[in-house]
Amino acid sequence: MAMRGILRGLGGKSASGDGAAASPLQAIGMGDAHRRLQLLDDFESAGISWFWATDDQNRLIYLSPSAAESFGVGHEELIGRALASLFILEQDNSEESAERPLPFLLSARTKFANLTVRIAAEGDPRWWAISGKPYQDPGGAFLGYRGGAKDITADYERNRDTSRAAQFDSLTGLSNRNRMTKRLTATLTAYKAAKRSCALMMLDLDRFKQVNDTLGHPAGDELLKQVAQRLERMVGSRGEIGRLGGDEFQVILPDVDDRGELGELAQRIIQMISQPYSLDGSRAIIGTSVGMAIAPYDGVEPSDLVKSADLALYAAKGGGRGQYRFYSNELKDSAQKRREIEEDLRDALARGELRMHYQPIVNAVDNKVVSFEALMRWDHPERGAISPAVFIPIAEDTNLINGLGEWAMKQACSDASEWPGELRVAVNVSAHQFNSESLPTIVTNALASSGLKPNQLELEITESVFMGDAAAVDKMFTRLKKIGVKLSLDDFGTGYSSLGYLRKAPFDKIKIDQGFIRGCTDEDNTNSAIIAAIVSLAEALNMDTTAEGVEAMDELELVRKRGARTIQGFIYSRAVPQEQVMEKLGNGDFVYEPSGPAKQRSQRRTVFRRIGVIHEDHHYDVVMRNLSATGAMIEGLLDVPVGTDLVIDFGEGQLAVGRVRRSQDASQGIEFETPLISDGADGLCTRHRISPYVLAAAGMPLKALPSGQYTMERRKNDSPSRPKFMQVDVQMGAARAA
Ligand code: C2E
Ligand code: CA
Ligand code: CA
Repeated sequence: MAMRGILRGLGGKSASGDGAAASPLQAIGMGDAHRRLQLLDDFESAGISWFWATDDQNRLIYLSPSAAESFGVGHEELIGRALASLFILEQDNSEESAERPLPFLLSARTKFANLTVRIAAEGDPRWWAISGKPYQDPGGAFLGYRGGAKDITADYERNRDTSRAAQFDSLTGLSNRNRMTKRLTATLTAYKAAKRSCALMMLDLDRFKQVNDTLGHPAGDELLKQVAQRLERMVGSRGEIGRLGGDEFQVILPDVDDRGELGELAQRIIQMISQPYSLDGSRAIIGTSVGMAIAPYDGVEPSDLVKSADLALYAAKGGGRGQYRFYSNELKDSAQKRREIEEDLRDALARGELRMHYQPIVNAVDNKVVSFEALMRWDHPERGAISPAVFIPIAEDTNLINGLGEWAMKQACSDASEWPGELRVAVNVSAHQFNSESLPTIVTNALASSGLKPNQLELEITESVFMGDAAAVDKMFTRLKKIGVKLSLDDFGTGYSSLGYLRKAPFDKIKIDQGFIRGCTDEDNTNSAIIAAIVSLAEALNMDTTAEGVEAMDELELVRKRGARTIQGFIYSRAVPQEQVMEKLGNGDFVYEPSGPAKQRSQRRTVFRRIGVIHEDHHYDVVMRNLSATGAMIEGLLDVPVGTDLVIDFGEGQLAVGRVRRSQDASQGIEFETPLISDGADGLCTRHRISPYVLAAAGMPLKALPSGQYTMERRKNDSPSRPKFMQVDVQMGAARAA
């Protein structure tokens, strides 16, 4: 048969040795002790494998001489030493390893095979795999071990490197995505059982791509390394940091559930990351956005927690650069909203939904308008007015900004050319536009087609343009100055302020950010001193100044006293359409009279939101009228005595204990026991929330906190006492007389 034929063929081939002249076979017989010994000698000295033997006290009685060389001492010195003492006992930190250490195995007199050990010798570490088997006399008494060993250093190190590469990021040395996922899963699993909480922070660098593009990849790599070092310094032993890839980082912070503490850490991280970097002689400035979620509140399973933190990060990025955000259930909707806005923004220009409005910038001494800032407005057919603070960052992320910016430049120049006198118009230019080669052409075209004089056009630029390639930035400044337009440094003092480039760059004006105006009249607020410093700096450099965002009379008085030359703010006017500008100026009226509140109202926000109030075991529905960090005004309960202790239920597990301080008819002023904290955006939130563990203990399934109010659900079955207060219906939306 065929099979037999093949077998026969093979057999024949091996026996005949491929036709070479066959010499007689000289097999080493088992009885040929001499030749067997010779063979073992050769084997030993080749270093392929070694032999060893111990006595009944596990002292070395034999070791292949070539093996002894690894120890750097004479063979004789090793004989007689305890076998275990020849090796270093290393703490194996790969959690998977279940191997027992050598001394344990020896004293238990168990057999072992291919145990990895590090030899106790000076110099570079060497690793052996050793095997051993205990020997007994016929009576069963232990005689010692016999065994083998070989050097596996090269393999060992290669394996270790690959397992490191599988777990760590080679650029920064931080944990990689793989390891972070494992760590998060392990932590959350253990913490769920122990009812502990764990925060997760996601970071994404702002403008990293520009650094990479303008300074090159080696500089980008160096930047990532420095970011990693700064993160390590900030986080320290409080958590584990990983780089997930690109410019995305993650931090696991075990046992953190105080959002106040977490927000402070995020804020410090943002500040640290935003400090300038020196990259091989170049300077770079980036920022970071931070999103945070806490288990079990925002997710019990790792994938849910990651999703929540991602959404928070997305919201942080959407809210402008350099912000942090906590996860909240609302974000799910706002992520969707952002996508829709992005969609609609693509067609907004073509559909004629965008308009330019103009806000006067007024001489501080005589209230005469000197220029107008052009501000974009979007009238969305369904959503109504959308703030540029919302859609401009989206336009920047999606590369729509160049189109919008070009249109704004044209429109503003054309509108300004109709204004009487020599009024100037200030147009905002985003860093993306500034980095684009075509900006000078866009500017000259807009000037040419409108007939506006170059010195009537001001470009407002923020400090973020300086993070690009310094040579290209300088060149752009030169090209723009050559056209003859004026340049203003916008939002001065908000991000990366460095006096260095103020001196280098040819600015005609500094705009002092509204952040410095807000609160400048409060006692022991340093803003007033900062305003004075910026003004005198600008004067020394021969630059003009505008104080932005002046709303109240006391603020106006202060910025005038501090020497700001021009003022922009609601106190004079909001941004208005071209028709209104024309109407006023057409009448020859160039003076804006300030009008506004005498004082800036404190940080109280007007809100209108349904919330819950808990008193004893009753849950009432009320409407919140305003809210500050320390208290709220509620409406909906009749005649609550001053001094009553209440719990405010803001929803999503946020409870604040408070006491009624003022009470009139259906409205009460409540002071919180502990102040609320910033949620990273414009809002406030509680430091702590009801723990899902507590809810689970009361019979609810363990899951992230759902939306809405649910704190009293578990009390429904109790027989409630009579409610103390009468609840009255407050019409949402109806403007009530105070
Ligand atoms: P910005 O350049 O700092 O513009 C000043 C912002 O402050 C405007 O907000 C203005 O309405 C507001 N403001 C002026 N006075 C006061 C005041 O007294 N109190 C308060 N609370 N706010 C005041 P707006 O129009 O919402 O614009 C927001 C940002 O959107 C602008 O900040 C600018 O960065 C960007 N933006 C607006 N239009 C354009 C544009 O055409 N191109 C580009 N690239 N960005 C634009
Ligand atoms: Ca501006
Ligand atoms: Ca500004």
